[in-house]
Amino acid sequence: MSFDYVIVGAGVIGSSTAYYLKKALPDSRILLIDRNHTAGAGNTARSAALYRNFFSSQTNRTLAGSSIGYYLGLGDKIQVDPIGYLWLFSEEQWNLSQKAILQIGQEKYKFDILDRDAITGILRMNYQPKGGFPDVYAGIFCHQCGSLSAMALANHYVSGFKSMGGEVSFNTDIIKFNLTGKNSCYAPWDDVSIDGIIDSKGATYSAGQFIIAAGAWTHDLLAPIGIAAGILPKKRQLFALKIEDPARFTMKSTKIPAIILPAGGVYIKPVLDKNIMIAGCADDLGQPFLMSDPEPETLYFQRAIEPVLNQYFPELKDFTLSLKWAGYYDYHWPDMTPVIESAANLTWVGGTSGSGIMKADAIGRIAAAGLQGHREAILADGSGFTVSRLSLRNRDVEKEELII
Ligand SMILES: Cc1cc2nc3c(=O)[nH]c(=O)nc-3n(C[C@H](O)[C@H](O)[C@H](O)COP(=O)(O)OP(=O)(O)OC[C@H]3O[C@@H](n4cnc5c(N)ncnc54)[C@H](O)[C@@H]3O)c2cc1C
Repeated sequence: MSFDYVIVGAGVIGSSTAYYLKKALPDSRILLIDRNHTAGAGNTARSAALYRNFFSSQTNRTLAGSSIGYYLGLGDKIQVDPIGYLWLFSEEQWNLSQKAILQIGQEKYKFDILDRDAITGILRMNYQPKGGFPDVYAGIFCHQCGSLSAMALANHYVSGFKSMGGEVSFNTDIIKFNLTGKNSCYAPWDDVSIDGIIDSKGATYSAGQFIIAAGAWTHDLLAPIGIAAGILPKKRQLFALKIEDPARFTMKSTKIPAIILPAGGVYIKPVLDKNIMIAGCADDLGQPFLMSDPEPETLYFQRAIEPVLNQYFPELKDFTLSLKWAGYYDYHWPDMTPVIESAANLTWVGGTSGSGIMKADAIGRIAAAGLQGHREAILADGSGFTVSRLSLRNRDVEKEELII
C-alpha cells in the first residue's frame, strides 16, 4: 500500500489536515488512519467542545478566531451554539490579568468587561463564598464563544476529504515505524527517513510523507524513533450534573453562558435542553504528564470540583451525577500553543493544549500549507500565517496568560 501522504490520527486535527491537503492536492493519494472505528473518537469526543476567541496571545486569537469564523459558517451542521463565555475573576486574578486583558482589542474580539453589579444581573449565584474561596470581583463576557459538536466537526472534514477521493482506514492501529536501512546503528552521514508504518495486523503503509496527528499519543509514538515531539499527555475529566431547574441559575430568561469560576480552575458548560451542567477543572501539580489511568474518578469530582460548585452555586446541591468521563490534553509546554514540526519525511501536528477543537480549522490549513512547502498559509478569514511560527526550531509565538 503506497501513498503520497499517510496521516495517522483522525481526530479533529488529523481530519482537518487531511481535508485541506486533499483540497490543495486533488491528484495526490492520501490515506487517513485511525485505530478507532470512526473519526473524532479519541480526545476530540471527550472534549467539552467549547470555543472562545479570548486569549492573551495574538497567535491563539488568530488560530481560534479564524477557525470560529469558519465554524459559524457551518452553523447547524456542527451544532454551533453561540452561548458566550462568562469568565469570572477574583480581585487578585483580575489585577494579575489586567495587562493581558487590556492588550486584547475589545471591539475586534467582542467582549464586555463587567463589574460585580453587572454580573449579579445575569447570574444567580453566591458572590461572597466562605472558607478561602474568593469573592467574584469582575468578569468578562465574550460574545464570540460557545459550543459545538466536536464529532460533527471531525466528520465534516472526513466526509469532505472522502468526497474528494481521500482514503480512510479505521480500526487500524499503528504500532511501528520502518526506518530506512536496518532501523538502528545509523552513522551520522546516513540519510535516515521513514519507509513505512506497520499496523497491529502486520500491514505496512508506505508513503512519501507521513503526518502524525495522534494528539495525546504523539510522544509515545514518536519517542521510540528518536523524536522529542514536545507534546505530553495530561488527564482531564468532565462530570455531567443533572439539575432539576436550570432557570434557578439565571436572572434573566437569556441562555446561561459557559462559566469559568474564580476558584480551582473550575468551569461549567450548560446543556439546558437536557437539564445538564457539565463541570470540569484544569488542575496541574500532582496530575502526571503520562497516559495514566483513563477512568474518570468520582473522588476527584468530590475533592476538586464539588466544593467549588457548592460555594458559588449552593442551589446545585440537589444535582445527580449522571455521567463522567476522562481524556487527555496534549500539552505543549511552555507556551500552550500548537506545534507543527518535521524531521526527515515525518511531520507531527499537535500540542493543542486543551483548545484543539476551537483551533482545528486554522491548524489543518497551516499543516497542509507546510506539507506543500508553502511559507504561508491562508486562514479562513483571509489572513496569512507563517507556517514556521508553530515549528519548534523557528518558533515565534507568545506565551498564553489566559489559561483555564
Ligand atoms: C476533558 C477535555 C475537555 C476538553 N475541552 C475542550 C474544549 O472545550 N474546547 C477545545 O477546543 N478543546 C477541548 N479539549 C481539547 C481537545 O479535545 C483536543 O485539543 C483535540 O481533541 C485534539 O485533537 P487531536 O485530533 O489532536 O486528538 P484526538 O482527537 O485524540 O485524535 C488523535 C487520534 O489519533 C489516533 N491514534 C493515536 N495513536 C494512534 C495509533 N498508534 N494508530 C492509529 N491511530 C492512533 C487516536 O485514536 C485519535 O483518534 C478538551 C479535552 C479534554 C480531554
